Amino acid sequence: MRKFVYIETYGCQMNEHDSERILRVLEGVHYLETKEAQQADLILVNTCSVREKPEQKVYSALGRFKRLKEEKGTILGVTGCVAQQEGEKLLDRIPYLDMVAGTQAIPLIPQMLKRMKVTGEKVCETGFDEKGTYLKTPLPSGSLPQVKSFVTIMQGCDHFCSYCIVPYVRGREKSRPSAEILDEVRHLAERGVKEVCLLGQNVNGYGKGLVGEMIFPELLRAINGVEGIERIRFTTSHPADLSQGLIRAFSELGKLCEHIHLPFQSGSNRILKAMHRGYARESYLEKIDRLKEVCSSIAITADVMVGFPGEEEEDFHQTLDLMKRIEFDDLFSFKYSMRKGTRAAQFDDQVEEKVKQERLAILQGIQKGLTLKKNRGFEGRTEEILVEGRSKQSDRDMTGRTRTNKIVNFKGDLNLAGRRIPLRITDGYAHSLRGEMLSSDEKARAGGIERRSHDSIGTDLHEFSPPAPGET
Ligand code: SAM
Ligand code: SF4
Repeated sequence: MRKFVYIETYGCQMNEHDSERILRVLEGVHYLETKEAQQADLILVNTCSVREKPEQKVYSALGRFKRLKEEKGTILGVTGCVAQQEGEKLLDRIPYLDMVAGTQAIPLIPQMLKRMKVTGEKVCETGFDEKGTYLKTPLPSGSLPQVKSFVTIMQGCDHFCSYCIVPYVRGREKSRPSAEILDEVRHLAERGVKEVCLLGQNVNGYGKGLVGEMIFPELLRAINGVEGIERIRFTTSHPADLSQGLIRAFSELGKLCEHIHLPFQSGSNRILKAMHRGYARESYLEKIDRLKEVCSSIAITADVMVGFPGEEEEDFHQTLDLMKRIEFDDLFSFKYSMRKGTRAAQFDDQVEEKVKQERLAILQGIQKGLTLKKNRGFEGRTEEILVEGRSKQSDRDMTGRTRTNKIVNFKGDLNLAGRRIPLRITDGYAHSLRGEMLSSDEKARAGGIERRSHDSIGTDLHEFSPPAPGET
């Protein structure tokens, strides 16, 4: 008999993709996704504990679902980082909670549900699976509605930055065998997916610990050869591990999009050292120069943190200086938040909340100006867009992304979804671009323009899809 599962997801892309993986695993035991919690037989809260009050978020989410449990016996579960970190304690603290599945327990969820049914007892799985088999997930079935898809290639982290909970809740770095990844990518391509984003906490560590395996640039090269895949992205790369081979891949692989997310966290060497990041600002700047040398149009985004313990005004100014030098396309900026169990939680020179708040506001104000300047720089240019579907903002608009990962909204038909088309950018805003379609003549010329702007790329990538019916 069909059952329904509702998943509420907190946190990053990795968590969003974990929710997709949970759905695929549950499909195998006849669960269908519902977007209505009231309709669900099973509700899972997929948690993140990287920043700010994660446990409170879990309590308040579960509090909202308690009534459903009482009224219709809905099963309530917690998955993800908070589940991993708190384990059985969550079951003790939340009497109406039924199950806790840690970060490596996704494939075990069906067995856990069965065990619960048979024994009538609550269930908890938070063990680490040293072989890494937890990364294998059933492939999606049927045709897929989406143009792009995430593919997990590795999980966990060996870096142990002093502020970060990830190595404790996701475990050490574990890579999936490349054959399994390539199977998944081919499977996605056969079902209409055009773009894959390879996911991992430190994708550049891909292959570590697997004997005879590819390293990350080799994996990219293999995926570049998969028929049907038109664009490749990845996230996240650690600056200390950003190899020359990966930098070169930006000029060698036609499908690899011109965008890198390369978190720098701080512009101060003193703070980078206390963070245990393993690089200095000078080497970060050098790597960015090298990336721009091989790929002048590359878009660069990053994560940065303010208010790390011991951060003085001078350190903060170094961060602002680095931002202004690089002129990032965009930044994800955070206030440092103390994570229980990490080394930095024991540092005694914690920065006052008010100071963190002020620094974050200054930094975000500067970046807003830089991003707007970058986006306005696109005005008048012709860009290749992979059309993703209807815009969420307006029924009349379609939306897609440039190779540099900028969102572009434009007037167009739904039958353009999944196609790469050239658009003239008319406006650059703070978070997106506005574009318009070209005439046939302009389109023919635009193909040439695009090829010239990426002339080191020797594939057919920049030959746009043939015009769709009704395209003007
Ligand atoms: N592995 C990636 C790296 O090091 O480049 C980042 C992954 S981490 C889950 C995502 C971002 O969260 C980090 O880049 C960092 O800026 C932020 N973050 C992690 N721990 C944090 C903390 N304790 N307080 C505030 N932000 C934090
Ligand atoms: Fe966390 Fe550092 Fe690993 Fe990134 S590299 S996941 S910030 S420990």
